[in-house]
Amino acid sequence: MSSAALKELVRFEKDTEQCMKCGFCTYVCPVYQAEKIESGVARGKNELAKALLNGSLELNRNLADRLYKCTACMACTESCPSKAPIPRIVVAARADAARVMGVRFPYGLAYRNLLTNRKMLGNFLRVAGFFQSALMPATNGTIRHLPGFMSGLIKGRNLPAVAPRFLRDMVGEVTKPPRGMKSVMRVGYFPGCMNEFSLPHIGKKTIDFLTRQGIEVVMPREQGCCGAAAFLGAGDFETGRRIADINAAAFPDVDCIVTDCATCACTLREYPHFLADTPERQESYGKFAGKIQHVSQFLIDTLSLSSSSFRNAEALKGKKVTWHDPCHLNRHLGIKEQPRRILKSLADCRYIEMPDASRCCGMAGQFSLYYYELSRKIAEKKMESVEASGADIVVTACPGCQYQLQDNIARLKMPQKVMNLMEVLG
Ligand code: SF4
Ligand code: SF4
Repeated sequence: MSSAALKELVRFEKDTEQCMKCGFCTYVCPVYQAEKIESGVARGKNELAKALLNGSLELNRNLADRLYKCTACMACTESCPSKAPIPRIVVAARADAARVMGVRFPYGLAYRNLLTNRKMLGNFLRVAGFFQSALMPATNGTIRHLPGFMSGLIKGRNLPAVAPRFLRDMVGEVTKPPRGMKSVMRVGYFPGCMNEFSLPHIGKKTIDFLTRQGIEVVMPREQGCCGAAAFLGAGDFETGRRIADINAAAFPDVDCIVTDCATCACTLREYPHFLADTPERQESYGKFAGKIQHVSQFLIDTLSLSSSSFRNAEALKGKKVTWHDPCHLNRHLGIKEQPRRILKSLADCRYIEMPDASRCCGMAGQFSLYYYELSRKIAEKKMESVEASGADIVVTACPGCQYQLQDNIARLKMPQKVMNLMEVLG
């Protein structure tokens, strides 16, 4: 295969030489532990990448399938003695596969047309929400089942509900601190798709909490999806660039951009590393990515809020609370202590550390759409940890993890409730 066809993977050629085949990754890779297939583990994926680079393998659908079977949890890199960046090699190989073979239908079509046009995505979801509320009785505030006779279509999974009102209909473009309070800082807010269209009460909580700290919050209407599913998940870099151009231009006059979604925080930071194909884009994406902070990092590291700044919401009173580390927050961005500090500050509930809190839940965006059975199998281990914690409430900071935990808790008829970090604050 010509190196032109492997345009992205060749950039990582040197990295593919780092693996010394020790096999430590077999103990931590959730895909390998569920499937026990060598090509599923980091070492095996690295061998596939090397074979593509030396021409002994050609890109084909089966090979692409092996590349898609990775949750990008980064557990392999964390445990690897030579810190081989396998998830990054996988993303680069996915990009080459997507360019050569296209993105599987209908995902590619949806990414190209919906994720690059916020208005069209909003209208599409309004229509979907209408049918969803007509067909699916609510089982709790955020997830619904399809009626039994249709459940085969979605393999019995609990679906995220489309919210009756989107976040942009609930808050203005600029939200100022309460009357009489001096504004100490102006920051951008990036809710991402889930917190804008499905869980807008979380976005509203974040904005309210920030304004109570004297922050003026700007939520530009021009911003779009972060692009995680399109470019990190499917390798559609062309769509990724269109999305990145939109977002980089949407926040012109803020020093800092806060998001309450771990996946968005990680993805927005990746723009200069994966998508910048010209010096202009390198500069624009680099500037934009440098402003991104997860809200827990912003509250603890930038604002240096003390324990007394955090009160718990009514729903947490007297409850035992535990934390699930989203891989994008914990391993990709190194944010581990900040959310725990916030939770441990809450006076009227008890914090319990979950065993194996950083184990991947198996969601990984489109990974769970492509491989739902595998995703559920990976989640089983997480559910064992949730049960062992004895907690009443599992808190996390990624809407994707939140849905995965909710789906599996409901499926296994477990009693725990799942909440977002910002949702637990009073
Ligand atoms: S842990 Fe690292 S060096 Fe060892 S086999 Fe896995 S990827 Fe290779
Ligand atoms: S990122 Fe996670 S799923 Fe992917 S190879 Fe590494 S350990 Fe396995």
